[in-house]
Amino acid sequence: MLDNDVAFICGSDEHGAAITMKALKEGSTPQEIIDKYHNLFKETFLKAGISFDIYHRTSSPVHHETSQEFFRSLHAQGQFIEEESEQYYDEQAGKFLADRYIKGTCPKCSNPDAYGDQCERCGSTLSPLELINPISTISGSVPVLRSTKHWYLPLDKYEGWLRDYIEKGTLEGAEHHDPSEWKTHVIGQCKSWLDGGLQPRAMTRDLDWGVDVPKEIPGAEGKKLYVWMDAPIGYISATKQWANDNGKDWKSYWQDPETALIHFIGKDNIVFHCLIFPAILKAEGHYNLPVNVPANQFLNLEEQKISTSRNWAIWVHEFLNDNPGHGDALRYALTRNMPEQKDSEFTWKGYQSDINSDLVGTLANFVHRTMVLTHKFCDGKVPAFDEDAPIVGSRGNDEASWHEVEMMDLFDRMWTVQDAICKFNFREGLKAMLDIASAGNQILQFNEPWKIFKQEPETVHAVLNLCLQYANGLSHAMHPFMPEASARLRSILSLPPVEEKGGWVSFMDSLAEGDVILPVGHSLSQPEHLFSRVEDDWIQLQISKLHESLPVIENTEAVTPQKPAITYDDFSKLDIRTAKIISAEIVPKADKLLKLTLEVNGLQRTVVSGIAQHYRPEELKDKHVVILANLEPRKIRGVQSEGMILMAEAGDGKLHFVQAGSDESGMVVS
Ligand SMILES: [Zn+2]
Repeated sequence: MLDNDVAFICGSDEHGAAITMKALKEGSTPQEIIDKYHNLFKETFLKAGISFDIYHRTSSPVHHETSQEFFRSLHAQGQFIEEESEQYYDEQAGKFLADRYIKGTCPKCSNPDAYGDQCERCGSTLSPLELINPISTISGSVPVLRSTKHWYLPLDKYEGWLRDYIEKGTLEGAEHHDPSEWKTHVIGQCKSWLDGGLQPRAMTRDLDWGVDVPKEIPGAEGKKLYVWMDAPIGYISATKQWANDNGKDWKSYWQDPETALIHFIGKDNIVFHCLIFPAILKAEGHYNLPVNVPANQFLNLEEQKISTSRNWAIWVHEFLNDNPGHGDALRYALTRNMPEQKDSEFTWKGYQSDINSDLVGTLANFVHRTMVLTHKFCDGKVPAFDEDAPIVGSRGNDEASWHEVEMMDLFDRMWTVQDAICKFNFREGLKAMLDIASAGNQILQFNEPWKIFKQEPETVHAVLNLCLQYANGLSHAMHPFMPEASARLRSILSLPPVEEKGGWVSFMDSLAEGDVILPVGHSLSQPEHLFSRVEDDWIQLQISKLHESLPVIENTEAVTPQKPAITYDDFSKLDIRTAKIISAEIVPKADKLLKLTLEVNGLQRTVVSGIAQHYRPEELKDKHVVILANLEPRKIRGVQSEGMILMAEAGDGKLHFVQAGSDESGMVVS
């Protein structure tokens, strides 16, 4: 990890079905869409201080060549099986449908808007054939099944070694990595895939956007590589591009067994990076497999799932444009709340308290006080000090002076930051970084240089020298988390920015040697506040921005009557009453129905209601509802139903109970 020879690689996957869908929706071409977003992402990463060695793209020629070479190699080695299968075809559009182009009801949670590859409500990975009532999102028609031939990777045959790789960290009997260093949720998700049994997975698709199957392979006509085959190969093609541009050998990053491959992803991509990509790499035969995949879980926003389509999101490029200089504060709040082990929550109120208490109250305060005091008592220069000067609160002893002991503590604190980062515990690393500032504040607080300067100038010099060394250490520890603020702190200290590669290592080496790193007499710049307080009205503005940006649901039908007029007599025939649900159960073999037992005027009655896709039985006990009590009884799925529960359908299709505003059961509604 601390080797200087790290390549930090990322890029845009430009062959996902979401891109062609967006092009269709915006009346644009996939090429226009990817150019717009690739450039936006690239600029935003740069502005946010994320310094990839290369941010590449899968539409580049080197990527197409590299992934075709992979396919060719696997094909030539006989790694694929060829199989005819039935796939959904849109007869109106005249094409086979990518998984994302098919919508239907999720078989696991009954979400009516699940995609052919995944249900975004319950997170299940799906195949289009599992969807209930599938429709094509291109034409809105019901797709038909048609036979088509594809190349499959026989993942079922790899199950044995994949299990050893995931569970024991071994590969071909040899130790490959330490599985105890992997996050438990990552291993857990892989195990559940393995336990469910792996199936051969098609590595090609019938599409018109993506990497062509190499032309010389018989049957290649009209076939593209499966996006989850070509996208991870994008890491390799990006490395090639970067290595070519920088006179390096790309192979040493992918094929030298001493090189560690690590993927930083979100949990929705675990299976592709931990099972499918390793299977592709091993089948090819020349490549390293990942030694760790420290995937994060999901970050929610103000208690809701982030959704770019619903615009429930903070757009980083907009945030940075509207709030120049606040990038590091956002990075701090995001890291502090990172969903490393479980889903976590970002709220604007939380952001305000993180920034005000940690960055303003602790970190900026320490730096500012140290600088002001040094200018006041030491002429703005790093003071010389007497080794024997006592520092209150420090643990000086016979072997080491107070100052030396505190410098060793600084080394330990910096080591904690480094160790946490190397173990991908970024929240812990961030906390250890802040602890350096807290320790510095304590030194100031215990010794109160502003009070004792006249009586004990020796202690004041020792304390301020120490605090300046701490501020220097802090500038290094801040660097991975807040590169801009680190550079500003270093400019206050009249130091150049931390060197991206090697700066940390050489600083730690000097600390370990016992060097006092900021030399005595070094002139400092003027004090400056590193962070400013986040005020209530600014936070309110962010919260209202978020809510205002939600799309308005157009529902013009709601105001116009949809049924012919009826007389008052017609209405008075209806016996509408309040009731209470006593129990609810699933009706077997009916995915929409629940059997409800109600209490009305002290009597029980049974009603079958089509709400199973909206409510789970256990949510319904003791709910107060309104029913049409004199609806002619009828048998539904073998259950006698005596009445109907009144429901209101919201714009998003969700059904809500009509309620009376009083819990008394049996009240007549008129
Ligand atoms: Zn679902």
